[in-house]
Amino acid sequence: MSPPAKSAHTVGPPASEPYPALSYELFPPRSSSAAETLWQTIRELEQTSPDYVSVTYGASGSNRDTAVELLGRLLAETSLKPLAHLTCVGNTREYLFNLVDELITLGVRGILALRGDQPQDSSGHSELVYASDLVQLIRTAERRRTAHLCAGRLAVGVAAYATKHPESPSFDHDVEALLAKQAAGADFAITQVFFFPDHFERLVSAARRAGVEMPIIPGVMPLTSVRRLDRLSELAGIEMDHRLRDRLAAADDDGARRRIGVQATVDLANAALDAGAPGIHLYTFNEHAAALDVLDNLQLRRPPIPGGLGRTA
Ligand code: FAD
Repeated sequence: MSPPAKSAHTVGPPASEPYPALSYELFPPRSSSAAETLWQTIRELEQTSPDYVSVTYGASGSNRDTAVELLGRLLAETSLKPLAHLTCVGNTREYLFNLVDELITLGVRGILALRGDQPQDSSGHSELVYASDLVQLIRTAERRRTAHLCAGRLAVGVAAYATKHPESPSFDHDVEALLAKQAAGADFAITQVFFFPDHFERLVSAARRAGVEMPIIPGVMPLTSVRRLDRLSELAGIEMDHRLRDRLAAADDDGARRRIGVQATVDLANAALDAGAPGIHLYTFNEHAAALDVLDNLQLRRPPIPGGLGRTA
């Protein structure tokens, strides 16, 4: 029997691999001078046409109003698509439900569902225990607004950890937690900062073995400051790259530190892309210079910028 003729509807392999995704993390400003720096950063980053920018949210909603205001301004005044971080620690179900509803009304179509760090005091009543509970709540709130979301469902992201979360008994426990977030309805994950290239690969392999199918996007930060490295290692329990730390500490000046740090970040991002990462999420700390240095050196394959506009060198 001869093979059936190919119909026009035959789905063949894609013409080419999709472009790697590019996104940046920003945080809401804490003062008017910080807002000025942030907006300069936003304008610079906008010219690189990222797929989205994420906006952090303080645990217990400490910066709720500034976060919502920044999301609104990004939607109204820029071409950028915001991904709103949302934490559930210290808040009630009703409060979170109403906030998700408010974000949908504002035009936000992506939410990163997080638990948030436990506060030192026990203020605020947490009705949700884990980020996976928040994912479920977001999906419930979304269903209530289906009619308004005809132009696109919410994309719900979650956190992933290339090195063990400080509260976890093991790395495998975190992988199980990631699987639970997927089962609750998450679409994608972004990793916490990590310092060693093989840590990302290890996470992705373990996650795939466990049944996690959603994209896992590596979060990388410009590794240009000893202080920042120390703080991350201390606060987030991330295993320190002592060789890199020593090289940064021994560098003669800020320029040398920046060259070392940017190269280290580019190497990390390239290793993650080589391991199959679907994109790169850059933690900017609201500063554009080092992020753009990383981007220039990374030479990420990106779609042409509409209208030929873009950053001039
Ligand atoms: P969870 O997934 O709930 O995990 C918390 C702990 O519980 C982990 O040890 C996990 O292994 C365990 N666990 C999870 N589910 C289960 C389960 N079902 N059963 C048993 N154990 C479980 N913090 C902020 O305050 N604001 C932000 O904007 C923010 N943005 C972030 C962005 C990214 C990309 C990342 C990686 C982190 C961010 N954080 C932010 C930090 C985050 O809130 C902390 O790392 C927090 O301690 C854990 O959050 P989570 O969403 O991973 O929590």
